[in-house]
Order: sequence, then structure tokens, then C-alpha cells
Amino acid sequence: MLRALARRVLRVLGRAPAFHLRRAHVTPAAARHRALLRHARIRSRHQCKRHRQQRHNQRRSLYPPHRHFSPVRSRKNRLVVVCTPRIATSLSTHHSASYTLPPPQLDCHLLSFPLPSLFMPVPPLIYHDRYDLHLGSHVFPSQKYRLVRDALIANHHASAADIIAPAPASDEDILRVHTPAYVHKLKTGTLAPHEILRMEIPYSNELIDAVWLAAGGSIEAARSALALALASASASSKSNSLPVAVNIGGGFHHAFPDHGEGFCVIHDVAVAIRRLQHDRAIRTAMVIDTDVHHGNGTAAIFARDPSVFTFSIHQEHNYPEPKPPSSLDANLPDGIGDEHYLSILDAHLSRAFREFHPDLIFYVAGADPYCEDQLGGLSLTIEGLRRRDALVFDYAHRHRVPIAITLAGGYARQVADTVKIHVNTILAASMPR
Ligand SMILES: [Zn+2]
Repeated sequence: MLRALARRVLRVLGRAPAFHLRRAHVTPAAARHRALLRHARIRSRHQCKRHRQQRHNQRRSLYPPHRHFSPVRSRKNRLVVVCTPRIATSLSTHHSASYTLPPPQLDCHLLSFPLPSLFMPVPPLIYHDRYDLHLGSHVFPSQKYRLVRDALIANHHASAADIIAPAPASDEDILRVHTPAYVHKLKTGTLAPHEILRMEIPYSNELIDAVWLAAGGSIEAARSALALALASASASSKSNSLPVAVNIGGGFHHAFPDHGEGFCVIHDVAVAIRRLQHDRAIRTAMVIDTDVHHGNGTAAIFARDPSVFTFSIHQEHNYPEPKPPSSLDANLPDGIGDEHYLSILDAHLSRAFREFHPDLIFYVAGADPYCEDQLGGLSLTIEGLRRRDALVFDYAHRHRVPIAITLAGGYARQVADTVKIHVNTILAASMPR
């Protein structure tokens, strides 16, 4: 009905029908562009009228679909894309369009980091070259992993030899969290088009390798943090450094046991927690998730598990929708800045540690609460984000809990800003306390 109406409108305008909604014929390339509308969809036109910060970010987005589309949901599992006639014409022959983007500013030497000092030792770093999926103009900047690694090396915080390449998680590890049917579809390339659409990232063999590696990287980061905690516990003097390790990747907190969504395919953090519990290396864990988007996959996976405490601080009026309850949620209003954010985070961390004492913390350190983020609607500065990280690490240190860091989201208009925020997180973890 709506499809027919849309075609009639376009015919009256003298243009060919611009889009087809038959889900059975979605190519990966089409999925890549159309699926990205999901984030914007949550910020409905009604919400955007009220939330100026989000509209401002959306207008300035480098990613064309966020500028031109106003997607709405019509019926169950059905996407209707409302777009301007100009854009409709450009999409008339294919589902995907080719966009002209400004040249990316990705080279490491272009990044200027106000680094605290040269040769500051950093925690164990886990990274694999195959984390970078080379997605081109996709809003998900998978190159950021490589750029974070390059920045740490270029500024002498680490050498290439210091960086640990993870082994991929075993299928057995993955199956502790994900359903056999979903894992089978991922491994055999038999996901349905609507399942790829929901992942919002193009399916490929490289993607599957990368997410298995990311899960292995989070297992490795957790093991390294626990080993450091053990070493500092056996030392005679009281250590003033935090037992911490970093997976320069991961944090895929929107993945569910039976499906992926929001750029997340495999829930690496949950896989790592389940593996360490299986090994009896830990009994309990806490997930501290400061990504601007709610950790819906984390909340769902550990919903009925008293051994894992999940805390998410996120923008309320943003993807995902619905938001299954975490053990503790901080639903933030749009557009809040550093001071307001930090006071709320402090109060919630205090409450989390009053209620629960974990053997290990997983920190999902998203860079997207940043004021220039294309998919976020908060107004934190880079300095505010650095103070956010320091606050989390102070709590971990005060309660003497080892911490494994994953990077999670970050979609700043300038990739260099996202990289800077992630590097700052790693450096903040290195600070003596
Ligand atoms: Zn996010």
C-alpha cells in the first residue's frame, strides 16, 4: 500500500520509482547503505525536532545517508525509506549509490596528540591487522583500530614487538554465548538478507575472521589483566598501577545470542567472560559500558545471571530500541556536557560497587559520547572523555579489581578525533595511581 503510494507520488513527479522494498533481493552492497539507516531511524523526526544537538550532528555528518534520509518504520520488519527526489533519482538503478566523500584524513602523521610524555609505558596491547575490514565510506571506521596501534607506536608508547596478536576464539568459546544456528549461519554464509541488514555491516569471510579474532583478543586482554593482578598481589609492596590490558578492538555490545545488530556480530566481551568463568579464572565480572548507545546485547545475555553485573550509561533517545534492562542503567538526556555526565557517572559507579564486587571488570570504552560524533547526541569534549576514563580507572583501582578494555563505538566526523579519544583511554589506564 505505502509502496504503491510512493511509486505514484514519484510518477507524478516524473521520476522512476527509486526504491524497492523486496527484502529477498538485498545485495550486500545495498545492505551496507540501507542498513545504516537504522541508527537514524531511532532518532525519529519527532525526536529530532526536540533534540537540536542530534539534528546538528546529523546535518554535519560526512556519511551521506545520515544527511539525506529520514527513515521510518512502517510495519513489522519492514523498512520504508523516505528520501528526497534528488536522492531518489540517484538510487533509481541500484539500491546503493556511489558517494563522493572528502579525502579521508587517516594518516597517522596527521594526528596531533597532546601526549602526556614520551615513553610512558602502556598496558599489554592486543591487536590484529585483520580487525580492519577496509569498509571504505562506511560510517563504521574499522581503520581506527590500525590507527590507534600506529599512533601508540609513532609516539613511542609501544613498539610493534610489544603488541600481542590474538588467536581467534574457538567455536566452543563462541557457542558459550551464541546459538548453534546463528554460528552455523555465520560460518556458512547463510544469513538471510534481513539478518545482514540488521547487522548493518556487509557480510564477508573477512568479517567472520575479524569477529572471531576480536573475541580471542578480548579473552587475551582479560587473561593479561588477571595475570598482572596476580603478579601485583604477590609483590611485597602495594602497587600503584592498575592491572589493566587493552584489546584494540572489540566491545561489540549489540550482539545477541541469536543475531547481530548495530555493527556487532559476535559479543566478544560475553565470550571472554564465559571462557574465563569456564576456566575458573574468575567467578564474577562487571561490565562498565560508557558507549553512547545502550549495551542491549550485554543486558540480554546476562539478564538472569547474578554472576555478572552490567552497567550501561548511554543516551536515552538513541539506538537501540528497545533497551533491555541492565543491572544498572543511566539513561542520559540529550546534549549533556562534561560536568553533568561525570557527576552522573560518579554516582552510578559508586552505586555499582556498593552492590557488587567483581573479580574482573570489562570496560566498554566507546568514543561516541563525543560532541562531534555522527551517531551520538551528547556533548562531551575530548577532555571530558579523558576524565570519564580516569574516573572508571580510579574506581577499579580503589576496589582493586583488574580491568580489560575494549574500544567499542566511535564515529566522529574526523576519524582522528575518534583515534585520539581511544588513545587517551589507553594512556589514562597507564597513569600511576
Ligand atoms: Zn555506540
